Amino acid sequence: MSGRVRPRVCARVCYGQASMSITRREALALCAAPLAAQTRPRVAITVDDVRWQDIPKDRRPEAEERLLTHLGKTRAFLFAIGQSVENPEGSGILKRWSAAGHRIGNHTYSHRPLFGKIAPEEFEADILRNEDVLRSYSGFRRWFRFPALNEGGTRDLRDRFRSFLARHGYRNGAVTIDASDWYYNQRLLARMEAEGGFDATLYRQPYLDHIWDRARFYDQLSRDVLGRSAPHTLLIHYNLLNSFFLGDLLAMFRSKGWGIIDAEEAFSDKVFTRQPDTAPAGQSLIWALAKETGKFENRLRYPGEDGVYEKPVLDRLGL
Ligand SMILES: [Zn+2]
Repeated sequence: MSGRVRPRVCARVCYGQASMSITRREALALCAAPLAAQTRPRVAITVDDVRWQDIPKDRRPEAEERLLTHLGKTRAFLFAIGQSVENPEGSGILKRWSAAGHRIGNHTYSHRPLFGKIAPEEFEADILRNEDVLRSYSGFRRWFRFPALNEGGTRDLRDRFRSFLARHGYRNGAVTIDASDWYYNQRLLARMEAEGGFDATLYRQPYLDHIWDRARFYDQLSRDVLGRSAPHTLLIHYNLLNSFFLGDLLAMFRSKGWGIIDAEEAFSDKVFTRQPDTAPAGQSLIWALAKETGKFENRLRYPGEDGVYEKPVLDRLGL
């Protein structure tokens, strides 16, 4: 009986999911290997901060256009800081990204992370102040990303913010693949400023290698902790580096067999409802879920990602 039922289920489920991007023959091959189909990693793009002011002035319009072009039909989530976008240029960016189908999330008004001296009341006010800036854009959704992925140093603070966000209708726009693109960007900008005519493409491969290294790390951790490859949310920033290389980055994932999915699709996975019991709270969601088990200590550095881990790499390369 099962021999007759299975192909029908297979054709409906596998082909239905796969028909947009691959041929029927490839879809049927996937059905023959259901495990492989289920474990194909997927990644969505989330873009933080929108500090467009940090992009050299003469390159801003081109950077904006290139970022949108790289994404194409892939819908990203843009976690914006109010103080960076509360101006005509920032407003233009949020309008264009909304019109292109991307979502806009809340990343606080002033981006003061919780490891600083900010009082809890101030932090909450900073979230609401940012909502006032963002909510008129059609792409706005109540998803919140903690600055520096820091969700509070103690269990009390962590739980306070969890209930605050829930009361205000927010979900945590968690990152599964954390990385340090911001550091590569910072080094690139400094180099370009110091050396007119510097060849920025020298940063391409080191940057792709870094993201691929982190993607493999967090995907393996996901398989070991959850028993599956969670749909990933990659953290990158609105910056010059990604205006150059985001297209190459997406092509790299595809060439490695990963699927690129919309950020909202990734966030709809049940893993994003998990609230790991760790303190200090935060980091990549996969990192925190691993930490919570107490079984992966030898694989978990703190913080999970930082420029200090990348400095020797770029120093060695003379970049
Ligand atoms: Zn940020």
